[in-house]
Amino acid sequence: MFAMKKTYNIAVLPGDGIGPEVVKQAVKVLNKTGEKFGFYIEYSYADIGGIAIEKTGTPLPDETLELCKSSDAVLMGAVGGYEWDNLPGDKRPEAGLLKIRSGLGLFANYRPAVIYSPLIGASPLQERITKKGVDILILRELTGGIYFGEKKRITTKTGEQAAYDTMIYRRSEVERIARLAFETARMRRGKLTSVDKANVLEVSRFWREIVIEVSKEYPDIELNHLYVDNAAMQLVIHPEQFDVIVTGNMFGDILSDEAAMLTGSIGMLPSASLGESSLGLYEPVHGSAPDIAGRDMANPLATILSAAMLLRYSFKLEPAAKAIEDAVEKVLEDNLMTCDIATENAKVIGCEQMGDEVVARI
Ligand code: NAD
Repeated sequence: MFAMKKTYNIAVLPGDGIGPEVVKQAVKVLNKTGEKFGFYIEYSYADIGGIAIEKTGTPLPDETLELCKSSDAVLMGAVGGYEWDNLPGDKRPEAGLLKIRSGLGLFANYRPAVIYSPLIGASPLQERITKKGVDILILRELTGGIYFGEKKRITTKTGEQAAYDTMIYRRSEVERIARLAFETARMRRGKLTSVDKANVLEVSRFWREIVIEVSKEYPDIELNHLYVDNAAMQLVIHPEQFDVIVTGNMFGDILSDEAAMLTGSIGMLPSASLGESSLGLYEPVHGSAPDIAGRDMANPLATILSAAMLLRYSFKLEPAAKAIEDAVEKVLEDNLMTCDIATENAKVIGCEQMGDEVVARI
């Protein structure tokens, strides 16, 4: 007797530029991980971004969105390129990104910032700071806050021109991201930092109150609060203190880029976007890098690490996710690096070989 392997469906959206090259490597790695851990993945490919514009006139065709909705998870490459740079905003490849996130109801963005020891020299921070270890996960609320509140250009009573944006969070929005953050901290080292500006903003006082309320359901998680200005400082002087950081849309936008740069290379940064269900969207943080597309030079590790996040957060396959991350670390320890991250004595390899080297270490 042999049991049927569990089968998962992934929608794959390679996109433009280096997207197809890096996604191909991630698929290889997922397949090897499936063999090793006893699951099977079926892939359905669809278009997004520039290639979708060429074929259908729109950056996110309805068929692509429908396919994603009926899948267990979505793996995406990157979109954009010079040929579409002059199209109006809503017709550009990047419009497809906003549309897919809202179309799938994704309200939480996960951005890890990890410094791998072989790449410690790539970090702009001094080694005396980074050697304590940097492994941070930033959870940013993605669909609320000041980016989505009412905004307007006005003329004041004195006839002066002015503009305003409104920061607003509903209770339900804060509760759901807080809950997700506590759950995520539970899957990691059990520490959560909520970042706000509660000394000034009413929205932040409201946010903090709700996070404290939700924390009652998670007595095993250590919770602390930081003002955003302090958090920005702490990230560069004591990054080792952080495990999971949860924050609103605008603060998260800024802090996740700051934290990302602690690691030193855009080619190493994965991301995930999640919503109410287990369906998530996984993609590298970098763009389509048209300057190196089609030359087997792209670093596929950001996409491979995104695939690891997919296994962890959508499929709850923690050992398989960890196996991918460990394999990536081993490749780097063996001094095999793509040119964007290559240290002085590294052997420089291409995108395809990097995929193979990770596969070989799973
Ligand atoms: P980019 O991230 O594509 O590239 C910035 C620089 O980093 C380039 O020099 C590139 O060669 C390098 N780089 C990026 N990823 C790399 C990788 N995996 N390996 C090695 N080097 C890598 O950003 P950009 O140049 O500002 O934008 C290019 C296009 O991508 C634009 O059309 C932009 O709108 C789009 N974009 C898309 C996304 C996305 O799909 N999520 C994100 C950012 C930018």
